[in-house]
Amino acid sequence: MIVVPKEKHVYSFGPNMKEVARAKPGDIVIFETLDALGGQIKTENDTIEKIDFSRVNPATGPVYVEGAKRGMALKVKVLDIEVADRGVIVTAPGAGVLGDKVREPKTKVCEIRDGFVHFNGLRIPIKPMIGVIGVASEEEIPTGTPGKHGGNMDTNLITIGSTVYFPVFKDGAYLALGDLHAVMADGEVCVSACEVSGRVTVKVDVVDWKIEWPIVETSEAYYILVSHENLEEAIREAVNQGVKFIMERTGLSWDEAYMLASLVMDVQISQLVDPKKTIRVKIPKIFLGGTFRVE
Ligand code: CA
Repeated sequence: MIVVPKEKHVYSFGPNMKEVARAKPGDIVIFETLDALGGQIKTENDTIEKIDFSRVNPATGPVYVEGAKRGMALKVKVLDIEVADRGVIVTAPGAGVLGDKVREPKTKVCEIRDGFVHFNGLRIPIKPMIGVIGVASEEEIPTGTPGKHGGNMDTNLITIGSTVYFPVFKDGAYLALGDLHAVMADGEVCVSACEVSGRVTVKVDVVDWKIEWPIVETSEAYYILVSHENLEEAIREAVNQGVKFIMERTGLSWDEAYMLASLVMDVQISQLVDPKKTIRVKIPKIFLGGTFRVE
């Protein structure tokens, strides 16, 4: 078993990443992670404008995966996510969907106990997820920005039991991850989730599958995750990718795949608040007619 400590982290996914560990296909890798704020927020007096932004969004890694060649896909099965016993939620003027209405920076520290986030007397069941997860990209992309390489996709489906596939741009893939959330709803509207440090256990593998964007697989469906500065462009490209995916799996013509998509493929929001917004399309396996890559 390979353990990557939280001190070994990066702030960008680029072409010159240097591995801190090596894994073989089928290996189990444990990543210890700092929270998205670099652990700088400890009390409710620590607000976001006081922190050092060069230490935001640390991603633990990267891990070189042997046999992952450019043009293939890295397969990452999330086996476990353990989160710390406290999390923080932050917002600030200009941040999130309603940033124009926020008058001053605010921080809330929440206790996480017995499987719940405790928020002003409410108990919210935790659903631990990985906000930042990605591989080396062709250009230097800060860990706070999502893209074809993955990154800050803030997608709550990247959780225990899911498998995430990434296009490999650089031999070895160079997997890094961080930014755990104890719980986050689709949209992440106030700009943060319940941000936590923790520990993630994954199984890495390599598959000969040419993909353009990250794909999440659950027992029920495939989700293609597309990020763009412009929400409509993100939606358009996600739908385009979804229709292509349906064509490839079913042998339908493009027009028929487009029609089937209209009947069975949901367009969903992952997050609306990062430098690029992340949209996903959900393609239920039951309509694909095959068992391609079903586990
Ligand atoms: Ca995030």
